[in-house]
Amino acid sequence: MSNEDTKLSKSLNKYAGFVFRWQRYKTFSPDWDHDHCQGCWARFAEWPDQWTDTVYTEGWVTLWPVTRTAKEKEDLIAEFRASGYVLVPSPELGGFQLDWLCPNCFEACHQELGFVIDSKHPQWQIAGL
Ligand SMILES: [Zn+2]
Repeated sequence: MSNEDTKLSKSLNKYAGFVFRWQRYKTFSPDWDHDHCQGCWARFAEWPDQWTDTVYTEGWVTLWPVTRTAKEKEDLIAEFRASGYVLVPSPELGGFQLDWLCPNCFEACHQELGFVIDSKHPQWQIAGL
């Protein structure tokens, strides 16, 4: 395993044993029209023509539990606003957010981190997918 892969698997360690499936990227809200690979920050979007960089229109997705309360989220948005930024909270689906991995990052860590591929897992229904 190369150094790069070791670094990658460390940063993706939080997904160890998570259930993934291959899916088309879909825009869930008008304010949230793209995502990034959690490993290499490559862009995911439904309409690649709107971007000038490399865009994946499909990839490996998993559900990351969103633990922030509504109040914490409000505070965070206010904090960003106070420092002159606009924070768009990620769309939440049944208490989860979608986290994406490009094919390269998924392949590089698939075995080591024990990613589970299961497109029929009940978690997808819970998230309304
Ligand atoms: Zn990647």
